[in-house]
Amino acid sequence: MSAVIEPMVKPKASTGMRVKVWGARGSLPAPLTPEELQLHMRNLLIEFTERGYTSASDVDRFLAGVPRQRFGGYGGNTPCIEVSTDQQQLIIDGGSGIRQLGYDLMAGACGRGEGEVHILFTHFHWDHLIGLLFFTPIFIPGNRIHVYAVQADLPDVFKTLFKKPYFPVELEQLGATIEYHRLAPRQPVVFNDITVTPYELDHPDPCWGYKFESGGKAFAHCVDTECIRITREELGPDLPLYQGLDLMIIDAQYTVMESFERINWGHASARRGIDIAMREGVKQVLFMHHDPGASMGKIAAAETQARHYYEHRLDSPPPNSTVSPVEWSFAFEGQVIEL
Ligand SMILES: [Zn+2]
Ligand SMILES: [Zn+2]
Repeated sequence: MSAVIEPMVKPKASTGMRVKVWGARGSLPAPLTPEELQLHMRNLLIEFTERGYTSASDVDRFLAGVPRQRFGGYGGNTPCIEVSTDQQQLIIDGGSGIRQLGYDLMAGACGRGEGEVHILFTHFHWDHLIGLLFFTPIFIPGNRIHVYAVQADLPDVFKTLFKKPYFPVELEQLGATIEYHRLAPRQPVVFNDITVTPYELDHPDPCWGYKFESGGKAFAHCVDTECIRITREELGPDLPLYQGLDLMIIDAQYTVMESFERINWGHASARRGIDIAMREGVKQVLFMHHDPGASMGKIAAAETQARHYYEHRLDSPPPNSTVSPVEWSFAFEGQVIEL
């Protein structure tokens, strides 16, 4: 068990970052119900005929033009985000989305027991851990799984996770070697061509966002957070998390009404992220941690509600402030953003 952080070294030149969403749902995995699936299929079939398509040979052409989120809504897996460059791959959180990412890794060095995996944890609520139990590379001898957190209790969390009677494989029986690394608040750490800095979010248990910088591009992961602190003064030492960003992924679990009803539950509506992004000139925003109880239609309605708010803000900025236009959308599983 180690608690060593790589020393600061001069970052190598990079060609840019790729961010992939493996899980966008919050709190609990939420598979589509048969009724929702039927609704998707019905809507797609209606659109197929309305566009004048008639034969089976048109199906692939039709589907190629349908937005990915309409196949399965926004996805049901809990948070897992992959950040990669041509030199480095980093994973944020081990929600149920990490299971599928594990299969991808098994096709490479992890399948041969020669893998080095780096997972950064925001916090230890179940929805950010549960996929680790089914992350195949962790069971393969020879693989090294480096895990990172600001919180001191990361090794205890792993002991609790891989423990009978909750799971049949105990921590000591895992094939891979787990290496624990403690991060210092607001101190940058270098992984090849990516520099990562943790900043604190607003959540009932301590939770840390991460800012990733590489090749002149910056991405911030701000999940889970209620965004209680909004102004630059309130954010204080954590303000840099939201500044100079090409991409920000931020919490929008609730509709506006829910956010009023669920104060101190640790999550936000999209309004908060829109306010921060417009003020700080963030270029692109993805909202995630969708509520497990929200259907595709409900998330789409929250997106429409946020669109009205955004347009209102563009037309009438808050007094004594300027706002910038922002490209934003609600994240869906499988989404890839190239920076
Ligand atoms: Zn969560
Ligand atoms: Zn949480």
